[in-house]
Amino acid sequence: MADVYTMGIDIGSTASKCLILKNGTDISGYAVIGAGTGTSGPKRSVEQALSNAGITINEISGITATGYGRNTFSEADWIVSELSCHAIGIHAVFPDVRTLIDIGGQDAKAIRVSTTGKLENFVMNDKCAAGTGRFLDVMARVLELDVSELAERDAMAENVVNISSTCTVFAESEVISQLSNNVNICDLVAGIHRSVAVRTAGLAKRLGIVEPVAMSGGVALNSGAARALERELGIPVRIPPLPQINGAYGAAIYAWEHRKQER
Ligand code: ADP
Repeated sequence: MADVYTMGIDIGSTASKCLILKNGTDISGYAVIGAGTGTSGPKRSVEQALSNAGITINEISGITATGYGRNTFSEADWIVSELSCHAIGIHAVFPDVRTLIDIGGQDAKAIRVSTTGKLENFVMNDKCAAGTGRFLDVMARVLELDVSELAERDAMAENVVNISSTCTVFAESEVISQLSNNVNICDLVAGIHRSVAVRTAGLAKRLGIVEPVAMSGGVALNSGAARALERELGIPVRIPPLPQINGAYGAAIYAWEHRKQER
């Protein structure tokens, strides 16, 4: 039998993620483009994922679009909320996970996943940049670092600096003032991570934590932020191998399952 390919595209606020799945199980290719909805990011992520998989769009049997910009993708066969796609994606990697914390560029979500991988309940912060990737992006810029460098700085911290402001704008001023006092950058980075972790742990506690817990989204690539969250929650947090494309993975699985049902 010929291989069957499905595609999931997660159009986020800051990044576009596309993943191609072979026969519902194998990842043939994926791409993450650091430009989200309303940009060329979605189109570029599709082209790059197809090129990585070594196939053309004509070989794709079904496409699910998810994420903040999902309604802008006219080629989609199915449009599904990212909450459901995240639940499907994490269930495929860790079938026993019951709570997923997803921190993206402009929001953070705590998601309760059923034992069969369905969305059961969720709590979301999409009103305030604090506790999201945006907070880390702003702070990294002030520190003249790339977000991908935050984890290694955190690992070298000796004393975690307390960031008292919860508001991103005030916290930014606080970080600038700490820098002018020659505070160690690594200690400052650890304080920034703790600030995000405190907000996120509060969100997860509002949902109610059922273990095991996992983390997804671009911020899960930052092991400093992930470790800070573990410390705040006081329990282990699992990270899938490709946390930023968890939603796209769930979307591609959705396309595979619905393609079969609708045939
Ligand atoms: P969205 O779906 O809202 O576009 P993502 O889940 O793609 O968001 O996450 C984007 C965020 O992930 C960015 O704001 C940034 O803080 C963080 N991020 C992206 N790449 C990295 C990386 N290599 N290391 C650490 N953090 C990263």
